Amino acid sequence: MDTNFYILFEKFLETIIDMREVDLENLDDVITPLCDYLGISRITVCFYQNPRAEKFETGRTVVPHDTGEECIPVLVDRIVTETMSVTKITTYKSASTPEWSEDTKHNALLFTKMMMLAVSRSSLLQVAKRRTFYDDDGYLNINYFIKKIESDGPQGLLKGNAVVFFNLRHFTLVNQQIGRDRGTAVMHGFIEKLTAIVGDDGYVCRMGGDNFIAVIALSKLDESIEHIRGCAVPYNSYGDRIMIYATAGVFVMDDSFVYHSPSSVLDRVMPAAQEARVGGMEEIVFFSPKMELAKDKIMRLQRLFPQALENGEFLIYYQPKVEIRTGRLVGAEALCRWLHEGELINPDSFIPTYEQSMDICKLDFYMLEHVCKDMRKWLNDGRDIVPISVNLSRKHMMDIDLVDNIISLIDGYGIPHKYIEIELTETTTDVEFKDLKRVVSALHNAGFSTAVDDFGIGYSSLNLISEMPWNVIKIDKSLIPDGPQDRRGVMFSHVVNMAKEMGLECIAEGAETQEQIDSMLAHGCEIVQGFYFDKPLPKATFIERLTTGGYGL
Ligand code: C2E
Ligand code: MG
Ligand code: MG
Repeated sequence: MDTNFYILFEKFLETIIDMREVDLENLDDVITPLCDYLGISRITVCFYQNPRAEKFETGRTVVPHDTGEECIPVLVDRIVTETMSVTKITTYKSASTPEWSEDTKHNALLFTKMMMLAVSRSSLLQVAKRRTFYDDDGYLNINYFIKKIESDGPQGLLKGNAVVFFNLRHFTLVNQQIGRDRGTAVMHGFIEKLTAIVGDDGYVCRMGGDNFIAVIALSKLDESIEHIRGCAVPYNSYGDRIMIYATAGVFVMDDSFVYHSPSSVLDRVMPAAQEARVGGMEEIVFFSPKMELAKDKIMRLQRLFPQALENGEFLIYYQPKVEIRTGRLVGAEALCRWLHEGELINPDSFIPTYEQSMDICKLDFYMLEHVCKDMRKWLNDGRDIVPISVNLSRKHMMDIDLVDNIISLIDGYGIPHKYIEIELTETTTDVEFKDLKRVVSALHNAGFSTAVDDFGIGYSSLNLISEMPWNVIKIDKSLIPDGPQDRRGVMFSHVVNMAKEMGLECIAEGAETQEQIDSMLAHGCEIVQGFYFDKPLPKATFIERLTTGGYGL
């Protein structure tokens, strides 16, 4: 029994058994005395993805003890895993030292076998850790975020930090512009720079796609937000750069913050991020307690929707479109109102919520069906009717059967297609643009009129007008000049002229005053839908307008 060996070996065992991650380079203290004692001059540990790779001798990762002398391999040991990856340990002795005794060989074998087990366990743990806490592109993932929050939260370590959820804007467009691979590299560049700003006190995790969440020390928050707001990232070797912007929600965890669970953080940062994303005004939105109320309201609205739809609580109001010079009623827009527990609620209070899910699509079809029912009745009663327009949310655009469904609904009531107009709003991305084009063309081919709604706000693009067969442009109320001095007049008259030259009908929405009506006429816009004539009307009042045919100027 070689006592000296066992003393050294025991020390080595104690050290590696306690270690979860074995880094051989840091084990010199226990390995070197053993190697010296046994006469081992070098140990190599190699990993191979598969046994065939072994012959290329790549993947040599560790040389814990290398005296630099010429040496010969004495022991070779392998572990092959189920997935056929191989760990190979080779133990060398110096060429100049005498042959090893059987005892020395035995001890050296014991030592290297133990080392191999420790290394294998450690590498398995590392793989498992990578799989759990990183995504396929190498970013920290949501699991990491939750685990870290769960361990830091109860210890009060989150105080003095902010949680920032951010979404890279128009990343689909970026990918289209510079190609997917460069897009991926640009995303890496953007996040790498942020990670550097955040430093060791914080971390940045990818939630999926172009959504990220970060925990950032308050001292680094301003600089981080500056970066998130917009940053030029190089995308090729010539140093050309592309601007990357993000919208973000921020939740600051000051001394008053009380941690219960990860939702204490997520439930606050997400509504702020959502507001930044869809609100359009501010790219960076800080959480405020009133958002919690807003969130309750949204959840309530979503909960109430199916029942409200079934009970017929959504009412159709009709707002007349009027030819200004003659006062003739030339059409109407169907607008939704919700009669809930005796209160009449305007669409601005519920449409944005329903647009967050597919509920809006059900509501739009409900509206279309009720408009068809009304028109069927009016036709049966022998009334003169006017074309009615119905709003369709962008959420429908991906629905490949949309136009077929519209046609079969309208045909089911036997309404001639010329009496139905569909209003659609502008889109922002190329992908949506293609879908919109498909829908507008199909509606056009089926004989329906189509209108660009709210023209002039958001991202108006001339392509949108020229590349699709629209019939009507509805100019938003924010563009209507208030009188001859109003500088908006220049823009307004250009839009009207452009529409006319392209053979499109032009309607201004939201004229309320005589001055607005006068300047509309002065700039050649003849049709208006606005409070000047009527607000959206309940059905019975609208029927009266249908009967009189207009405003008898
Ligand atoms: P929109 O489609 O642009 O409808 C015109 C809005 O302008 C209506 O608001 C109308 O009441 C308002 N308006 C018209 N004239 C005037 C005016 O002279 N002054 C002012 N201040 N406002 C005027 P409403 O009914 O509150 O609807 C708001 C928006 O909600 C609509 O804007 C539309 O985007 C959406 N919406 C309404 N009903 C539906 C629906 O059934 N489906 C979908 N997807 N959206 C709908
Ligand atoms: Mg509309
Ligand atoms: Mg509009």
